[in-house]
Amino acid sequence: MRSVTLSCVLALLLLPSAMQAQSPELSKTVQEFVRVRAPKIVLTHARIVDGTGGPAVEDQNVIIEAGKIAGIQKGADVTATADATVLDLHGYTVIPGLVGMHNHLFYIARPNLNSQRHFDNPVVVPQMTFSAPRLYLAAGVTTMRTTGSVETYADLNLKRDIDAGKLPGPHIDVTGPYLEGSQSYFLQMPHFTSPEDARQTVDYWAERGVTSFKAYMNITRAELKAAIDAAHKRGLKVTGHLCSVTYKEAAELGIDDLEHGFFVNTQLDSDKKPDVCSQSAGGETLARMEPGGPEAKDLIATLISHHVAITSTLPVFEGDAGGGRPPIRQQVLDAMTPQAREDFFLLRQRPASGPVPKIDPALLWKHDLALERAFATAGGLLLSGPDPTGRGDVLPGFGDQRGIELLVEAGFSPSEAIRIATLNGATYLGREKEIGSIAVGKTADLVVIKGDPSKQISDIENVEIVFKDGVGYDSQKLLHSVRGRYGQY
Ligand SMILES: [Zn+2]
Repeated sequence: MRSVTLSCVLALLLLPSAMQAQSPELSKTVQEFVRVRAPKIVLTHARIVDGTGGPAVEDQNVIIEAGKIAGIQKGADVTATADATVLDLHGYTVIPGLVGMHNHLFYIARPNLNSQRHFDNPVVVPQMTFSAPRLYLAAGVTTMRTTGSVETYADLNLKRDIDAGKLPGPHIDVTGPYLEGSQSYFLQMPHFTSPEDARQTVDYWAERGVTSFKAYMNITRAELKAAIDAAHKRGLKVTGHLCSVTYKEAAELGIDDLEHGFFVNTQLDSDKKPDVCSQSAGGETLARMEPGGPEAKDLIATLISHHVAITSTLPVFEGDAGGGRPPIRQQVLDAMTPQAREDFFLLRQRPASGPVPKIDPALLWKHDLALERAFATAGGLLLSGPDPTGRGDVLPGFGDQRGIELLVEAGFSPSEAIRIATLNGATYLGREKEIGSIAVGKTADLVVIKGDPSKQISDIENVEIVFKDGVGYDSQKLLHSVRGRYGQY
């Protein structure tokens, strides 16, 4: 009896601090967006797509306590109490919070862009520290990788303030500055002069809290090797948007992930020279690589045997596939500044007088979708992220949703596509025991969606509430706070 009393007292003493660790005090700024917060929340009569790729399960109750999923039960009516909030989710679907694996906190501005798609140099990359985190969270993204930073201190401090409850936004894996070679087009990236330079950059930023790295198009094999070794020594992973180094070379050097599906592999580019980016930057290779052919099979086997993940970024390529794609969403236009909206339409139109592309974009699109599917079918870890760089149509959050729709176009079932955008990302991050699927004991990062994305994937756009660490945020309020801002700050 005495020990029971004591443990009860201990539990009472421990509870507040344990809860605080789960979910910190929220600032006024964050509280403005909170729709549901209670010691106990019961989501009743919801359809669950749990993130494992299995079929949807109808009519379930999900119990949220202290930021965690405390129970999943057969659907039943529950009475609300002073401590327990109950949401009736008839007609809604609950999926895990999205884990966005190519999700920037910047936008690419093209100075003096005109209707011929011409723009002036230098291309600059403004930070979207205010708008991007809100757009991500509004769309259901509860964890994201920045996948290359231009203002690394801003990203690190933003992550700290979000985790401290001061600002709204997802959990962030901050990627260091782009690991780029000397021939770069971008003024805001480091331009390495040696492998030692690469090693020092990785060490410097790892010591300041960066948790991943991304190599870029003009890095040499020796620089990439130095960067990978330095990162791995600290238990950190390296991804790459490569060109000077082929996918197979990078796999053999020990890279952990490759961005942009199979669009930027250069192994079959006719002008490819070692350590130098080719003219087509991978287009030629993708056009030549027949899905199911010997080169594709050999490449996929090499990637899988070296445990290299692939990040699908279909939204950033969709505009090139032709046919007036993607469909325009009013909410996307509403989020942008007038200038960003103008650029959006200029980039979207293809001037009739413009040069005909040397490689048929529709062929590239077809080959990439088939290769991504073959890679996943063969057991490769496929991740998803939109690459929201302002290339016409792709914005934070909205792009994450579009990526899932396009994975379904590639032949994945809706549940499999959702898994790629949730549990697979969590697995890559080594966080699959805490996030990425709906299971008892996991963090309550959940997206409440009106409709049934397991039948009609476009319903994934109808997000109403996003739970992060068990706190439910109002998607529309977050979007409203960003109206007309994206492209400015
Ligand atoms: Zn990118």
